[in-house]
Amino acid sequence: MTIRSRLSIWYISTTFMVVLILSTVIYFGMRHLLFRMLDREHEVIIAAVESSYDPITKTFRILDSRRLFVNEDMDQAYVTIFDESKNELYRSPIVDQIRMVIPLAIEELKRTTMLEHPADQMPVIHTISQPHVRFHATSTKLHYGERHVGWINIASPLGDVEDALLRLLWVLSGGVVLSGLLVGGGGYFLTGRALTPVAAIARTARRISSTRLSERVDVGNKHDEIGQLAAVLNDLLHRLEQAFESQKRFAADAVHELKTPVSVLRTHWEDELSNPDLPDDFKEKLVGDIETIARLSRVINNLLLLSHAEVIRADTVFAPVPLAALIDDVIDDTAVLAEMKSQTLRRGPVEPVTVNGDRDRLYQLVFNLVDNAVKYTPEDGEITLTLEADASEAVLRVADTGRGIPPNDLPHIFDRFYRVGSDRSSRTGGSGLGLAICKMIAELHGGSISATSTVDEGSVFSIRFPTSP
Ligand code: ADP
Repeated sequence: MTIRSRLSIWYISTTFMVVLILSTVIYFGMRHLLFRMLDREHEVIIAAVESSYDPITKTFRILDSRRLFVNEDMDQAYVTIFDESKNELYRSPIVDQIRMVIPLAIEELKRTTMLEHPADQMPVIHTISQPHVRFHATSTKLHYGERHVGWINIASPLGDVEDALLRLLWVLSGGVVLSGLLVGGGGYFLTGRALTPVAAIARTARRISSTRLSERVDVGNKHDEIGQLAAVLNDLLHRLEQAFESQKRFAADAVHELKTPVSVLRTHWEDELSNPDLPDDFKEKLVGDIETIARLSRVINNLLLLSHAEVIRADTVFAPVPLAALIDDVIDDTAVLAEMKSQTLRRGPVEPVTVNGDRDRLYQLVFNLVDNAVKYTPEDGEITLTLEADASEAVLRVADTGRGIPPNDLPHIFDRFYRVGSDRSSRTGGSGLGLAICKMIAELHGGSISATSTVDEGSVFSIRFPTSP
């Protein structure tokens, strides 16, 4: 999962949690406040009834002779009042609409409030459920001083409160979802913007290879974390480039230093060969040594070529090269090698294609491939060269019916000095540099080289060139 997605998920979950906790606190706070308001209203009525008690007549002055409240507004509430013997003194006209358990039926209260001794814990605040509406009710004793003088039940319908709470719940849930989406979307957008320089750094870093170590990553703001990362990467690239350069220079200098003594040695040995005084067996040894020196000198030349890839790139003069003619030339020049192993070297379908390139280097490339094919194909085998092209590229193939290349070795055969296991010790005369040179030449021409192979069946080497306009 990308950092961007991970950060966005973090944003969403954190915001979701925070808003959820906040909404829960708001909901229950509001609920508590609304119920507290109802309790306050009940307390006001209870206080008004209690303070109207007349100990002489043992009546509540707040009730008139018709057993109604003196203040008619209070008749609109759900109230029942009893004397201490639980005889009903007052019942508001609307009370009959609800099933209020009066006088304080202890059993009922125990059931609805789960209190062990509800009558001892006055007031009892409880909820009465009716088919369509619920009531928040207070039941308590009425006192005159310390004296118990009666009982009262007050109920308030919860319709409005519950409606308001339900609406609040909807608003809060909508808020939770919306803030999650907004923060998630915003977080995704912002992390995308914040990570754009990282993606650019990764792109540049991916583009930089051993041949393009001079490229640098754009530092941007060098004071922020990403700028510092880019600066560190650039520093690393600088040191890598220096290390590469000195390694290349060392290899090139070493090869160069070897070249002269080896050719001096070869000339010297060849001169010695023409000395008539030398015994024949010594001359034979000399010929063997000269062959070894010739091989060494080929390796040195190849190494020089590879270590001067940049110079070659700069010096190469590109001109249109007709590939069909080049294929014919290589076939003509290698026919003798194939004949020595009774192999068939043939030209398959060849389209007339011209590429922009250096003819000598391209010749060397195709020659190396055919030379390898002859070397690694047993007697009576077949080697075929083909060339096909479309509007954008030309593909030159050298196919053989040789021993093939094991899958484990295939990805490495274009590396310098890489040779398939059995060839490392054999005396095929190779050094493992031929295919590395082929790759260098193909890339020099903006092309690429690849190989497919099946052990004991053969190999196909394909070079792809962009075709010249
Ligand atoms: P070498 O000088 O050893 O031929 P190359 O770089 O040309 O070096 O080839 C590297 C290795 O790839 C060879 O040693 C050989 O094992 C393998 N190879 C190259 N061409 C072929 C081929 N046509 N068939 C089988 N193996 C091949």
